[in-house]
Amino acid sequence: MTELYDGFGRRIDYLRISVTDRCNLRCVYCMPPDGVPWQPHADMLSYEEIVRVVTVAAELGIRKVRLTGGEPLVRRDITALVRAIAHISGIDDISLTTNGVLLDKLAAPLAEAGLTRVNISLDTLDPIKFRRLTRLGDIDRVWRGLEVAERAGLAPIKINAVIVRGVNDDELIDLARLTIDRAWHVRFIELMPVGNEGEWGAGFPAAPDRYCSINEMLERLAPLNLIRAEQPIGNGPARTYHIPGAQGTVGFISPLGDHFCVTCNRLRLTADGRLRSCLLHDVEVPVREALRSDDQIAPLIERAVALKPRSHDLLMADASVPQDRMMCQIGG
Ligand code: SAM
Ligand code: SF4
Repeated sequence: MTELYDGFGRRIDYLRISVTDRCNLRCVYCMPPDGVPWQPHADMLSYEEIVRVVTVAAELGIRKVRLTGGEPLVRRDITALVRAIAHISGIDDISLTTNGVLLDKLAAPLAEAGLTRVNISLDTLDPIKFRRLTRLGDIDRVWRGLEVAERAGLAPIKINAVIVRGVNDDELIDLARLTIDRAWHVRFIELMPVGNEGEWGAGFPAAPDRYCSINEMLERLAPLNLIRAEQPIGNGPARTYHIPGAQGTVGFISPLGDHFCVTCNRLRLTADGRLRSCLLHDVEVPVREALRSDDQIAPLIERAVALKPRSHDLLMADASVPQDRMMCQIGG
């Protein structure tokens, strides 16, 4: 079996695919209230084109695929894409990152189509705060979606919570306690400065006051006596712990920390057909034109892997990187 390595000896076996930049929510840290200028449909890769990229990527060494967005579940007939990817030889894991709003309807068909697991974004347990943070969301739908996903066997269930100081940092302990009775994996994520430095609206802190580091989160979780734990499947760059006696785990993801880059195993494909070498670095290799003119795409995938930087610019500067895309256009 072939394997793909970048210039720093990291094995690249994971492709994150943003299937759309559109979303049914408007989380304050991810999208402006009116959304972004949506990519025209003609610029977005069709499912056939995505499947071709994954097929060639699998021949080169990609083994895991994650679908993301925008919100992947708003793209029409997403189960058809999952089913097609599930049939690609070499791909042994297909996961999806979602806000959970449409999971109550889609979890069962997605599982049946071959999806292996889901990450659900849930930053707060408070319905009113959830509505303020997402500008549009109904937390009850997300809870329903979570339960349906669990019943459909999309396990292990992971919950992603971006922690913002002065907004949901007071819920760290309550969110972590979700892992006591259920085999859920809650992962706390540091806020990234990706096109979101403007005002978020009344009651939200100003940009310099929003960031909360994982070291501070860990200190504030001290009353739970967290113990270092084994990584659950696909926990990637998370540092993982558990509450003594708990069924699930508590993870910490520090996209701004160096260890995040050292273990990087991923390549990204944007909805408009560009291979992105690093989440936080504006290096991209276009594949759409090659796909549409039936050119070879293997060399483009190899080039995107070769262009992976050792680490991202946020380690060196406090400027907002990337400049070209917002998070909803990369997929996290
Ligand atoms: N719509 C889906 C969702 O919300 O799960 C998938 C796309 S979303 C861009 C992927 C992940 O990125 C989510 O967990 C979201 O919370 C996270 N995210 C978005 N903007 C972020 C930011 N500025 N800093 C850190 N995480 C962010
Ligand atoms: Fe939509 Fe996900 Fe961004 Fe929230 S984080 S606006 S759900 S893409």
